[in-house]
Amino acid sequence: MLRTVITAAVGLGLAAGCAPDSEAPVKVSVLSRSSNGQYVPTPVELTTITDVVGLKGTVGDLQGGARIVIDVNDPALGNATEDTIADVLVKKSGHDVKASYITQKDEKTGEDVLWPADFHSWNMVTSYYNLERANEYFRTVGNVKTADFEPVPTLYYFPEFILAQTSKDPARDNAIFYPVLQSFMVLPFDQIQRAPLPLNAAVMAHEYGHLVFNRLAYATQSLPVALSTWAQESPSPGANILKAIDEGLADYHAYGATCRSTSGCDPRFLATSFDGGPFSAVTDERDLSRGDRCMTALLYTNMYNQDLGSWSGAGNEYKVGTLLATALYQAGRSSGQEAVLQRAVVASYYDTNGATPGIFQLTQLFLGDQSQFSLAVPASAIISHISDLELRKAVCNEFMDHLQIPRELLIGPNLCPASAAGGSTCPNIFQ
Ligand SMILES: [Zn+2]
Repeated sequence: MLRTVITAAVGLGLAAGCAPDSEAPVKVSVLSRSSNGQYVPTPVELTTITDVVGLKGTVGDLQGGARIVIDVNDPALGNATEDTIADVLVKKSGHDVKASYITQKDEKTGEDVLWPADFHSWNMVTSYYNLERANEYFRTVGNVKTADFEPVPTLYYFPEFILAQTSKDPARDNAIFYPVLQSFMVLPFDQIQRAPLPLNAAVMAHEYGHLVFNRLAYATQSLPVALSTWAQESPSPGANILKAIDEGLADYHAYGATCRSTSGCDPRFLATSFDGGPFSAVTDERDLSRGDRCMTALLYTNMYNQDLGSWSGAGNEYKVGTLLATALYQAGRSSGQEAVLQRAVVASYYDTNGATPGIFQLTQLFLGDQSQFSLAVPASAIISHISDLELRKAVCNEFMDHLQIPRELLIGPNLCPASAAGGSTCPNIFQ
């Protein structure tokens, strides 16, 4: 796959004199979902791009031809520090990508629009556009300051990404935010024969959600101290919960980003990529509109008693994450305040105010004893950042019902009002 990219790019390489004007804004066609849900060529304006051929700008920098190997048995990995780990993992850093375009006149406006000349150019420029849309969502809805997105992440496009303990062959069919490298990876597709993941704007918003969580809830640490410290212990409830909220909130914001797109709010945003293929069950498993999801006694027990390897190996972080995302979805929709809730969730990631500490501050508080970092702790951080009392109560009721967080842990000043009594959708797992 990688070779195809390079060959195509070289073969269609533009002569320097004809290189398109790179100054933002640049009008370009991308593959985007229309109002009927189909992916169609759509003229858009890239507002953050500085190099439209190399696909580089203030929200990301695409690199092709990289080789990244994670081998837990590599002794160099054990000795690596935050400053040297990239050198250990990145075996080949790759090179700037080179998208090819044909200039066309927009039928409606008569303006010049760059039309990608081959599949990878479509895929790459749409990847960049989707990062730009996700960044816009977190700036406007999430109220994240521009400085908090820095440093500019690399997006490794179709890298050879090898997880040595899983397989000698490069991984496929995934999009990843990898905090260790402060980078995204968009892997080649193999079994996904519908919309490639980077074309699915919600998938890219999910990954961008992990970047924002890293920047704020992990204070931009490449090796998040709380997660890596807690992951070394067994059981590792704090690490299990951090992974679960990171995944769940990434899905919740991915959904939020769809509400700002032409195709509209889509709680089943994985469908266009996964349906009809080997991952089709995932669409239903992560469908945020299902109101009947409940924390089970087994999942609750596993959360507090498993080590991170067993927890993640069973995909449990996605199960708890989806419960969290669904609870937020239901509360936001029922009160008609979805964007308000999305903003409050982002505000809960990092807050130095002692009365309403953020998730990062709470991980630091309990760094020496992860058993204190129960699910009620990050849930309380979210609740304390919701100023509207009706919305807050709705979230409290959802958390008590669907996540089975004990009511007494959520009631208090800046937290749930005494009138929050939970709900009756889910069976009480403590009886
Ligand atoms: Zn994820």
